[in-house]
Amino acid sequence: MFIKHDYIEKLIQTSANPTAEKVSEILDRAARKEGLTHQDIATLLHVEDPVAIKRMYDIAGQLKRDIYGNRIVVFAPLYISNYCVNNCTYCGYKHSNDIPRRKLSREEIQQEVMTLEKMGHKRLALEVGEDPVNCDIDYVVDAIDAIYTTKNDNGSIRRINVNVAATTVENYRKLKAADIGTYILFQETYHEPTYKAVHPKSVKGNYEYHLTAFDRAMEAGIDDVGGGVLFGLADHMFEVIALMMHNEHLEEAWGVGFHTISVPRLKKAEGMDLDQFPHIIDDETFKKIVAIIRIAVPFTGIILSTRESQEMRKEVLRYGVSQISAGSCTGVGGYKEQELLGKRTDQFTVADERSPLEVLKELVTDGYIPSYCTACYRQGRTGDRFMQLAKSGSIQHVCQPNAMMTLMEFMLDYGDEEILKMGQALIQKEIENIQRVDIKELVINNIEKLKKGERDIYL
Ligand code: SAM
Repeated sequence: MFIKHDYIEKLIQTSANPTAEKVSEILDRAARKEGLTHQDIATLLHVEDPVAIKRMYDIAGQLKRDIYGNRIVVFAPLYISNYCVNNCTYCGYKHSNDIPRRKLSREEIQQEVMTLEKMGHKRLALEVGEDPVNCDIDYVVDAIDAIYTTKNDNGSIRRINVNVAATTVENYRKLKAADIGTYILFQETYHEPTYKAVHPKSVKGNYEYHLTAFDRAMEAGIDDVGGGVLFGLADHMFEVIALMMHNEHLEEAWGVGFHTISVPRLKKAEGMDLDQFPHIIDDETFKKIVAIIRIAVPFTGIILSTRESQEMRKEVLRYGVSQISAGSCTGVGGYKEQELLGKRTDQFTVADERSPLEVLKELVTDGYIPSYCTACYRQGRTGDRFMQLAKSGSIQHVCQPNAMMTLMEFMLDYGDEEILKMGQALIQKEIENIQRVDIKELVINNIEKLKKGERDIYL
C-alpha cells in the first residue's frame, strides 16, 4: 500500500526540534515554489517558533494570492439521507444512535433545492450516510437529476459535488454519467489501527477499500476527486504526511492528484463526546496545518466548512483556504425546516450560522470576490486539464472574470443595497486591474448583459 506507516513515523521522529536555519531554508524554497519533500513537510509540522510560523503564514498567503487571486468559491452541503449501516464512533448518524432516520423523496429534495436557490447557491455538496438498501446508488443518481432540474426564478444548481461512501467502479460510472462535479471522500484517518478502531462493526471498516476508492473513481472516469482527513482522530502530523503521499500516489497512477482537500475538525455530535478522542487539535495547530497544506500543494483547492467559527474562517482564508460553505445545515431536510423554524437532528454542530448574504458581505468587505462559478467542469476543464491551466497561471484568466460575473448575478438576484454598493465597487476595481484588453472588454460586456437580465454567462 502507498501509505507507509513505519516510514511516516520515522520521518516524524527524525524531523523533531528543527534548527532555525533548517526551517528558514525550507521556507525559502517554499517561497520560490520549489516543492517540498516529505522530510520538509514533517519539519514544518514541528515548527513552534512564532516568527517562523508568521513567515509560513505569509508564504502560504502569497502562494494563494499568486495562484487563486482573491476569489473564494462558496457552496452549501445538502443532506438527503441519514440511514447508515456504519458505526463510526465520531458520527452523529452512526447506526447505534437511536435517532429518527429519514431520506428525502424527490419532491422533498426539490423543496430543499428551492430553499437553497433562494439563498443564492449554485454549487452543492451532496451528503448521505452509507446504506446500500435505503440509499442505493440509483437513489443518489435520481437525487442528482432532481437537483439539476429544479429551477426557481433565476435559481439553478449548476454543480453537484458528491460525498458518498467508498463504492465500486460500476457505481462510480453511474455518478460520472450523472454529471457530478468532484467526487469527495474523506479518509477520516490514514492511521490504519486508528481507522479500524473508529469504524467498529462497519462496512466502512475496510481500510484498504476506503483508501483505494479514488483509484476506482478514476478508473470510472471521474477525474476531479477531493480528499480530506477528519482532524482529531489520530496524530495530525501523521495525517498531513499521509495525505501528501495519497496525493502523490494519485499523481503517479492517474496523472492528477486531489482537486480539493478538505480540513474538517472533529465536532461534538449525538452519541459521542470529544473527551473520547485524544488527538483533538487546538486552533494554533489547525492554522499551521492549513498553511502547510497550501505550501505543499499550491494548486489544490482547500475547503473549509462551517464546523469552524466566523473568526477562524476569516483568519485561515488568509493562509490558503480557497472554498467555503455558507448557510449550512447538516440535518436531512434541514433547509426547509430551518425556514419553518423546525427542529432536526444534525450530523454534528456547526459554528458559523450566518446566511450566505452575511458571509458574502464579509468576504467583499475583506477584498475577496465570492465565486459561484461552475464553468470548469461544464467546459471540460477537469482533471489534468485543470491542473495544467492552474500550473501555467492561465486559469486566472477565466476564474477571476467568472467570479466577478457570478458575484454580480448573486447581488442582482439575492443581494440588498449594501452588498450591491460594495460589490460593484470591488468589481469595478478588479476590472481596472485586468491586463488583457480582450478579457477586460468581455467582462464589461457580460456585466452589462447580466444587468439587463441575462444569466449563467461564463468563460
Ligand atoms: N457517509 C460518507 C462516507 O462514508 O464517507 C460520508 C458522508 S458524511 C455525511 C461527511 C463527513 O462528515 C464524514 O466523512 C466525516 O469526516 C464528517 N463527520 C462525521 N462526524 C463528524 C463530527 N462529529 N465532526 C465533524 N465532522 C464529522
